[in-house]
Amino acid sequence: MSAAAEAVSASPGISRAVRDFITKKRKILIDGKWVDAVSGKTFEVYDPSTGETIAHCGRSDKEDIDRAVRAARKAFDSGPWSRMTPSQRGRIVWKIGDLILEHLDELAELEALDNGKPISVARVADVPLAADLFHYMAGWTTKLEGNTLNLSVGDNLAPGTAFHAYTRREPVGVVGQIIPWNFPLLMAAWKLGPALAAGCTVVLKPAEETPLTALRLGELMLEAGVPPGVVNIVTGFGEEAGAPMAAHPEIDKIAFTGSTEVGKLIVHAATGNLKKVTLELGGKSPNIILDDADLDIAIPGAAMAIFFNHGQCCCAGSRLFVHEKVYDKVVAGVAEEAKKIRLGPGLDPQTQMGPLVSTTQLERVTGYLESGRKQGAKALAGGKRHGDKGYFVEPTVLVDTAPNMKVIQEEIFGPVVAAIPFKKFDETLVAQANDSIYGLAAGLWTRDVGKAHALAARIRAGTVWMNCYNVFDASMPFGGYKQSGWGREMGQQVLNNYLENKSVCLAYPASL
Ligand code: ADP
Repeated sequence: MSAAAEAVSASPGISRAVRDFITKKRKILIDGKWVDAVSGKTFEVYDPSTGETIAHCGRSDKEDIDRAVRAARKAFDSGPWSRMTPSQRGRIVWKIGDLILEHLDELAELEALDNGKPISVARVADVPLAADLFHYMAGWTTKLEGNTLNLSVGDNLAPGTAFHAYTRREPVGVVGQIIPWNFPLLMAAWKLGPALAAGCTVVLKPAEETPLTALRLGELMLEAGVPPGVVNIVTGFGEEAGAPMAAHPEIDKIAFTGSTEVGKLIVHAATGNLKKVTLELGGKSPNIILDDADLDIAIPGAAMAIFFNHGQCCCAGSRLFVHEKVYDKVVAGVAEEAKKIRLGPGLDPQTQMGPLVSTTQLERVTGYLESGRKQGAKALAGGKRHGDKGYFVEPTVLVDTAPNMKVIQEEIFGPVVAAIPFKKFDETLVAQANDSIYGLAAGLWTRDVGKAHALAARIRAGTVWMNCYNVFDASMPFGGYKQSGWGREMGQQVLNNYLENKSVCLAYPASL
C-alpha cells in the first residue's frame, strides 16, 4: 500500500470495516474464489476529494475474462444454479438484499469514499435502493411464466391432427455486464438482480474509478449462498477488460450502462456472435416549468433535478425550460439553491455535494464551462472549479444560452444547468424539448393535469417525471429513446433482457 493510501485509511473518519477492506489488495472474483489477475497487475483507486490513492485492485485483461466466462459457462450449463428451484433461487436473491441492509453503513461509507457522493445520500438512496432491487427481483423468480397457445394450423395442413403449444421463458445464458461509476453499487444491483432472477450467470465489470462496493457486494453474494461461478466480478479498464467481454464468443448477452460513445463500440464488438445487447446511455433531459407551476416545489425540484449526484446522472435535468412569465424568478431561485449547496468530501456528514469522480471528469466539466463562456452564456451561480484540491466544481446555473451552444447540445455530466425561456405551451416548446439526440428522461412542473398528460405523451423520452424528478423505484422501468439506449432497466420489463422465449409444439391425434 502506498503512503498516501495508508494516510487515507488511517484518517479518523473511516470505520474499522472500511479501513480493513481498502488496505487489503483487492482481488477479482472468479468461480467463487478471490484471485489475482493472471498478469499479476493492479491499478490504483483514488479518493476524488483529495486525489490520493485509497486502494489497489486487480487489473484484469482478456485472459481473466476468459477464465471468468469459463466459470460462468460451467455454472450455467452444469452447476447447481440451473438445477435449483425458482423458489430456492429467489431466497438467495432476497438474502442478498437483506445482507446489503445489514451492511448499510459500511457500504454507504465505502461508496462515499470511492465515488465522492455525500454519505448522507448514499445511506438513504444508493444502498437502500440497491437492497430493494434485489428484494423486488427475488419475487419474480417464481413468476416467470409462459403461455398456452391456441393453434389453428391443424385444420388445413394436418387434418386429424391437433397441437398442444406453449411458450417457455428460459434464461438467456452467460451475461456480461459493464457498469459506470456514478452509482456504483446501485448500478451493480440493477444489473445483477434481474440476471440472477432470470437464472443467468454473470461476469460483471465495475468502472475502474469505483470498483470497491461491487467487490464488497461480491463477498456478500457468496455469503448469501450464490454458488461458485454464478457471479464473477472482474475489475479493470474499459479497453483491457470491457472490450474483450463485449467481443467474447461465449457470452450470450451484454448489458452496458455508460456513455453513448462506448455504447456504440459495444454494439460493434457484439456483432461477432450476435450476442443480445441492451444499453443505458447518455441524456440531455429537458425539465419544463410552466407558468402555473407551484414554484415553491418547482424551484428546489429543478435544482435537485440537476445537482443531485453532482449532475453525474444520465437523466439529469440539464436543459431547464421556463415560461417567460416566471423565468426571472425561477432562475434566480435555482441560482440561490445552487449557492446554498455545501461542498465537501463525501465522508463528511454535512456535505451536500461532493467532488466529481475523477480528474478526467473535472477537465471535461470545466471544459464545458469554458466553452459556454466563450459562446456567450453567463453564469448566475458557480461557473468554475471549487478549490484546488480534489475534483470539485461549483453548482452552476447558465443563462443567455442559445440552441447551438455545446452546453445546450451535449451531455456535460456535471452540476451545470442551462436555463432557456419559452413563450407558450405549444408545438414549438415540444419540438425544442425533443431537439436532442437523446431521449432518456424529462421533467414537467404544472398544476394543469390536462397539459401534464398532453406533454407526457409528446415527449420522446423513457421516463417523464411530473412535479417530481429523479424518482427511481425497482418496479418502474427506466431507459431511453433515441441514442439514450436499447431496452429498459428495472420493473417487470427488465426481465425480458435476460430471458429467451421458446415455443414448444406437440402434435397429437385430434380424435380419440
Ligand atoms: P464515462 O465516460 O462516463 O467514464 P464510459 O462509457 O467510458 O463512461 O464507461 C462506462 C463503463 O464502460 C466503464 O466500466 C468502463 O470501463 C467501460 N468501458 C469503457 N470503454 C470500453 C470499451 N471500449 N469496451 C467496453 N467497456 C468499456
